[in-house]
Amino acid sequence: DAPAAGKASTRYDLEKETELRFEVESGEAAEQVELELLTGMAEVFGSELNRNKKYTFGPGSKIAVFTWQGCSVNLYGKPEVAYVSKDTPMLLYLNTHAALEQMRKQAERDNERGPRVMVVGPTDVGKSTVCRLLLSYAVRVGRRPTLVELDVGQSGVSVPGTVSALCIERPADVEEGFSVQAPLVYHFGSTSPGTNIKLYNKLTSCLAEVFSQRCEVNRKASVGGCIINTCGWVKGSGYQALVHCASTFQVDVVLVLDHERLYNELKRDLPHFVRVVLLPKSGGVVERSKECRRDTRDEKIREYFYGFRGVTFYPFSYEVRFSDVRIYKIGAPSIPDSCLPLGMSQDDTQLKLVPVTPGRDLTYHVLSVSSAEDGDEGARKGIVESPVCGFIVVTHVDTQTQVMKVLSPAPRPLPRHTLLIMDIRFMDMK
Ligand code: ATP
Repeated sequence: DAPAAGKASTRYDLEKETELRFEVESGEAAEQVELELLTGMAEVFGSELNRNKKYTFGPGSKIAVFTWQGCSVNLYGKPEVAYVSKDTPMLLYLNTHAALEQMRKQAERDNERGPRVMVVGPTDVGKSTVCRLLLSYAVRVGRRPTLVELDVGQSGVSVPGTVSALCIERPADVEEGFSVQAPLVYHFGSTSPGTNIKLYNKLTSCLAEVFSQRCEVNRKASVGGCIINTCGWVKGSGYQALVHCASTFQVDVVLVLDHERLYNELKRDLPHFVRVVLLPKSGGVVERSKECRRDTRDEKIREYFYGFRGVTFYPFSYEVRFSDVRIYKIGAPSIPDSCLPLGMSQDDTQLKLVPVTPGRDLTYHVLSVSSAEDGDEGARKGIVESPVCGFIVVTHVDTQTQVMKVLSPAPRPLPRHTLLIMDIRFMDMK
């Protein structure tokens, strides 16, 4: 557990209610940074640090070590930046947690359901971080909240291009985040809700329905409530998607991060019993470039197949005959209303399953393996609303022999034969 020999070490003595922010350089060759708590108590995004344990953060990490009581920590290695800030909204975030906890207590007393919270705001305001913080605080006081991940661009739960729900049973790991076991995942297929807003709203409703069903049979889940992380797209259809989400999940609280107009619009458009709260963003939240977002997405897919840090997975590569699978894309390209068949609307086309004929252009695409039962035409109806049981990547297509090679987390055969194509591609450099 000793830091690498020769690594520079810097000690920081933090006063109470301050945080040390640091960033690790990005890029393959970048040196990792280690963090150690020497005295006092501190937490990273709501998860407490153990004393004299070294936490390692890889390239691109952006971290805040916050202390309520004061502490001293050591950083080993050369972070790209490291500074102490006294100006943090953590007290407001803690108060928010306290208010949610009051609601859970009341729910427990009155045999009602706990708070359903939606976190909204533009990109790079720290939405995911606030969700993580509130979930970790809730689980630390014995609750079992659910994380609902609607950010199809930067999902914290599954690969990009999906929406999902995850029961949180322990605080996030300081280095690795929440343990992702048995999440409920739906295929969306691209990194922006705008590519198919109808499908996005439909999947939001699917998640809400499953969550409500779970709450009916599981009292702890019901009292724990949920924290919904949303996309940073807050205008036009993006805004409408937030309103739809609030209604389908019947949210009680909306936390708006750093966006006064959005706050006012939601206050105007949501029913009066929904509490809409404006919260400041943390000055520590780091803006991420397009490239940085793309790298994070790529990394998420790599993790799915190859594991993360201590846990190494060994994915399988095998051939799949075209005739053994059915590949679909959800959503037909929109056509002028006048050309639509009688009785059909644009909405129908967005949720339509379009068969995909395998060709070379399938190479590198990520495909979701639908959990829908393999069946005849009739069974196709439920595919859009069926959760996903895993993902594969097409690594090679041979149109002559009608076979494609895939990268898969599990050995052959595929558990199901209905595959849904994503816009997202992954080039396996291993
Ligand atoms: P998106 O646009 O993807 O929805 P977001 O609003 O969810 O982004 P986060 O992912 O929460 O934003 O935060 C962006 C980055 O800033 C993350 O890498 C996170 O670790 C970092 N970050 C958040 N809060 C702090 C802080 N107080 N100090 C330093 N870094 C922070």
